[in-house]
Amino acid sequence: MSAELSTAELSDRYVIPTYGRFKVSLARGAGCRVWDEEGREYLDFGAGIAVTSLGHCHPRVVARMREQLGVLVHTSNLYYTRPQAELAKRLVEIVGAPGKIFFCNSGAEANEALYKLTRKFGNECNGFAHASGGTSNPDAPVRRGIVSMLGSFHGRTLGGIAATGQDKVKKGFEPAVEGFSHTAFNDTEALRDAAEAPGLAAILLEPIQGEGGIHAARPEFLREARALCDRHSLLLLFDEVQCGLGRSGDWNGWDSLAPDVKPDAVSWAKGIAGGFPLGAVWVSARPVQMRSGEIKPLCDLLGPGSHGTTFGGTPLICAGALEVLAVIEEEHLLENARVQGRRAVASLEALASPWIRDVRGVGLLLGIELSADFAAQGGLPPGKTPSLFLVERLHEAGLLTIPSGTHTIRWLPPLTVTAAEVDEAVGILSRVLASLPRS
Ligand SMILES: *Cc1c(COP(=O)(O)O)cnc(C)c1O
Repeated sequence: MSAELSTAELSDRYVIPTYGRFKVSLARGAGCRVWDEEGREYLDFGAGIAVTSLGHCHPRVVARMREQLGVLVHTSNLYYTRPQAELAKRLVEIVGAPGKIFFCNSGAEANEALYKLTRKFGNECNGFAHASGGTSNPDAPVRRGIVSMLGSFHGRTLGGIAATGQDKVKKGFEPAVEGFSHTAFNDTEALRDAAEAPGLAAILLEPIQGEGGIHAARPEFLREARALCDRHSLLLLFDEVQCGLGRSGDWNGWDSLAPDVKPDAVSWAKGIAGGFPLGAVWVSARPVQMRSGEIKPLCDLLGPGSHGTTFGGTPLICAGALEVLAVIEEEHLLENARVQGRRAVASLEALASPWIRDVRGVGLLLGIELSADFAAQGGLPPGKTPSLFLVERLHEAGLLTIPSGTHTIRWLPPLTVTAAEVDEAVGILSRVLASLPRS
């Protein structure tokens, strides 16, 4: 019966329409390329929104996952499993500071762990413990606030939309979870004021904003955030869901901007397991002082029974993630991300297209901003944003990319992308831009 309906028709009938989907039905992928059901080939510069970091069906990941599939898939977190323990160790090494890992299933869920960590910290601690010790203060005021950045994106849970600094994700879902406030990204003065708000417990930011249009934090902004957190005993929380684990050309997005700054906790998801759903959080072992006076590592605040998830960190997905991280290391893909990112930026700038206003990004997290008068040109139907319009023209020409806001398109190719593939994508974009009617 359903064979009579196309995939799009079947999907539109039975899948809740939270996404406005492109009219492309994808059937298979290999490396940087995907094919639709009619066999049309596309160069995939979206990578499932920065997720398939080794491209599609990387042979080493396929082999490792197949092997683990026949050994042990899921146990729950009531038991130890080797792949989870080893992945935790690897992620702590990647941050490069003592701490521990919590595993979950997505970016929004990883951020929820950061919000819950902040509540525990604010409700049960006086603040960071200093080398000199300090006195217990059971009457210290409770602090629960998290200040995040305007233009940020932190996920679609109720906590996530409260943290997100964009009104469009909140509409219709009021009332907002309390405790979140927002300040201007990269505005050091405003951050100083925000950090003095009574009841504040944490600063949350994406070192490189992804959904907000590819905007990197200025190094001084990150340094000031760290200094303010130390001065006021606030947690510095980095959402590395999109920019982390190689996308920026370094293991950590902040390492591409200000490697001297270390956060107190980090969230990851997207590219961590090359396409399998996994989220994770690193929490620092930095000592904090409980209201009782007891000193504990911050990473032990979320103790037994305080937080959890049935699926997070299964042996199957952790084995896949370990292989993804090993391939990034052994095939020098951080360097490749930097080299190919620079190549893309240089080639896009050399196009000198009147339709392109700005090319920006770090590593393979690239934003191409269209000129303000793009909307005025001939072929743009009313109500369609320039970014959406261009993304659809690029699909027709065989290139998958992702809109980011009304005027920016994102290039997030797999970290394995080659120079030839970058040149091919630039060629497609160049031809599409050249074919647009000029009014
Ligand atoms: C995508 C994204 C999220 C949400 O991740 P999900 O896996 O979709 O829940 C959170 N933060 C950032 C920076 C993201 O890019």
